[in-house]
Amino acid sequence: MTNRPPLLVIGTTNLAKGRELAELLAPFGFRVQTLQEFANAIEVPEDGDTFAANARTKASQQASNLGHWVLADDSGLEVDALGGRPGIYSARYSGENATDETNNDLLLSELADTPTEKRGAGYYCHVAVSDPQGDIQAESSGICRGRIRTERAGTNGFGYDPLFEILEFHRTFGELGGRVKEALSHRARAMRAIVPKLVGLAGSGGMNDE
Ligand code: IMP
Repeated sequence: MTNRPPLLVIGTTNLAKGRELAELLAPFGFRVQTLQEFANAIEVPEDGDTFAANARTKASQQASNLGHWVLADDSGLEVDALGGRPGIYSARYSGENATDETNNDLLLSELADTPTEKRGAGYYCHVAVSDPQGDIQAESSGICRGRIRTERAGTNGFGYDPLFEILEFHRTFGELGGRVKEALSHRARAMRAIVPKLVGLAGSGGMNDE
């Protein structure tokens, strides 16, 4: 038995995403560590065909590998005019060596002839939490709607944030910065839905792993 707060490992190698997830968990009394702190972390292949399947696999395989509770997310951008692409392929949209820059360039060129009113898009996020045995104990998802700009604006955030406009603010996530993203983003909404489940698990002593 221990009175220490439960340890939750954030199962992502994307530093910006890991930082956002850690900040969203900060107020709730978990000890949060990232994969960078574990030399034995494995690279989990994202071979599912849904965000949910990928999030579950990332959480479950990393948790049984590390012997700790792991929270993983799978997220991406679904663009209406592209029939929901890039979706689960958002990170590698522009190819194997894709960067945020090349992904945003490709998105702008694919939407070059798409008028403003048809540039709607949604960020989607699925979060899954696995126990140290690899069994999923909690899941949630969140969506954030917006519109794809015709040129980049702002340098906050990551990925498609300089192109993703929140209509109510007439600003992109790149311009709006962390405080607004913490309130409105797909990841924030998914985390708000899962935190009560985690607090419940921790409160019943179900998250002690040492
Ligand atoms: P994942 O690591 O497989 O979940 O890939 C997520 C990809 O979706 C990222 O590399 C970005 O391209 C995109 N993405 C997900 N969430 C965000 C976000 O909050 N802002 C910008 N891009 C995002």
